[in-house]
Amino acid sequence: MIFSVLTIFPDFFVSPLQEGIVRRALNEGKIQVGIYNIRDYALDRHHMTDDRPFGGGEGMVMKPEPLAACLKAVSREECSSRVILLSPKGERFSQQQAQRLARYDHLAFICGRYEGVDERFRHKYVDEELSIGDYVLTGGELAALVVVDAVCRLLPGVLGCEASALNDSFSCGLLKHGQYTRPRIFEGAAVPDVLLSGDHAAIDRFRLVESVRLTLERRPELLAATQFTPAEKKILKREGLYSRIETIVKENRESRSSG
Ligand code: SAM
Repeated sequence: MIFSVLTIFPDFFVSPLQEGIVRRALNEGKIQVGIYNIRDYALDRHHMTDDRPFGGGEGMVMKPEPLAACLKAVSREECSSRVILLSPKGERFSQQQAQRLARYDHLAFICGRYEGVDERFRHKYVDEELSIGDYVLTGGELAALVVVDAVCRLLPGVLGCEASALNDSFSCGLLKHGQYTRPRIFEGAAVPDVLLSGDHAAIDRFRLVESVRLTLERRPELLAATQFTPAEKKILKREGLYSRIETIVKENRESRSSG
């Protein structure tokens, strides 16, 4: 996977790409990341990348020509490619979006600044807009790093254990259960006995129930689309949790058919 990032602040990316799993993926050639300074593609004497908005109003707007020139320089026509504008107005980024983007060969990220990018550039060159949440950042750099990180760890061979991404929160419609490590007793609190039992079926049951309890408590809406196997349904019925899930599914279906 090739990530190209178009930014006026390339130094933003130096340290985050040199840590942990992303660094290892880079070193092993599983990903390539190109950071492009939009300013290098501004042809006027002062390398201007922004200007005042037509019609007046506060702030500055990123000029379309340097953005277009920079994007043309990084475009990869030989592979499946997607141009993504980071924007608070975009579709909300999610684990499902990360899974979808992981199927491309090349992702190009446009990091906005100021009041954002000229609308004509967006219209002509951008395939999709992504927001990392309902708040406004000073620029798209942190948002691009969030997307690169989330997509990177889904690529084949990037995580040591492939199963760990499959069992992550959101991947299977549940929040992940709590985890414990040594010591067995920490400040008077013991690890649940079942996790020390060596009984893997019992451990799986315990973790499923913990995940479902946590999801019901914090993000019940996720359960409207979660698929359970017959064996899992049996466990959840025994624990008295399945009827609550059925209610959520029913309410979701009714609200969709009425809306
Ligand atoms: N005036 C714009 C608005 O109200 O929608 C906000 C511009 S913001 C100050 C500057 C840049 O930061 C945006 O162009 C975008 O690239 C990035 N940005 C800000 N919030 C973001 C978010 N929640 N998700 C993704 N990118 C964001």
